[in-house]
Amino acid sequence: MREIIEIPLDKVKPHRTDVLRTQGVTPGKDTSHNVEKPLRKAIELFLEYAHPVGVLGDIPLPQFEDVYKGDGKNETSTPLDEIFKKAEALALFAVTIGEEISQKISQLFKKNELVLGSMLDGAASVGVDNTADFIENHFLTMLIKRGAATSATAVLRYSPGYCGWHMSGQKKLFTYLKPEDIGISLLDSFLMRPLKSISGVLIAGPREIHVFEDSYPFCAECKTHSCRERIEALFKESRYNNRV
Ligand code: SF4
Repeated sequence: MREIIEIPLDKVKPHRTDVLRTQGVTPGKDTSHNVEKPLRKAIELFLEYAHPVGVLGDIPLPQFEDVYKGDGKNETSTPLDEIFKKAEALALFAVTIGEEISQKISQLFKKNELVLGSMLDGAASVGVDNTADFIENHFLTMLIKRGAATSATAVLRYSPGYCGWHMSGQKKLFTYLKPEDIGISLLDSFLMRPLKSISGVLIAGPREIHVFEDSYPFCAECKTHSCRERIEALFKESRYNNRV
């Protein structure tokens, strides 16, 4: 099944602490007027210029194996190699918050409104992440309705360009899913346009299948080790409290 999903703005509105984090401001600290004012304005502009939408398509394991292989440029061993083979269900996805917000960000930088431009860029990054979270949640809800998942099932997303899955994997993903239908195109560099877009695979299965050590050779170059936070969040009860 393939579905295009219009996503309500209020479901993906960036939280102020997440936006502050993108600006290197520690959440919980008192913020000055110089930070508060552009922060409020950035969230206002997000609500004016963001247009969240997603596309989701089930994919059987053998077809995903082919998409994942891409042009054969993946690292020899990756976390995803092991994880997708243990999946109970797989879906390709792409989400975007549209081109208009990127244009607004460029406009602010051109007008030398650097603080507001950077704050809006941060808000847009948080917003597109929230949009991908919404789709993860939507997929899990769909599976539960079909009787294909339980409360013990976890859905996590993985994207080309990260953790050993080569960027060129985008080519086959686009051929299979056709995110062009929601206005996302693939550039020769394998980056997407609009820039504030995310694509990848959603993997559903028992939480434990998503657990791995961050000891792959390419992990030595990783600046964030964000997989640790994602794995930890899987075992927190609140993760799926806001099912759609
Ligand atoms: S340490 Fe970084 S590169 Fe390695 S699996 Fe985790 S997020 Fe991916």
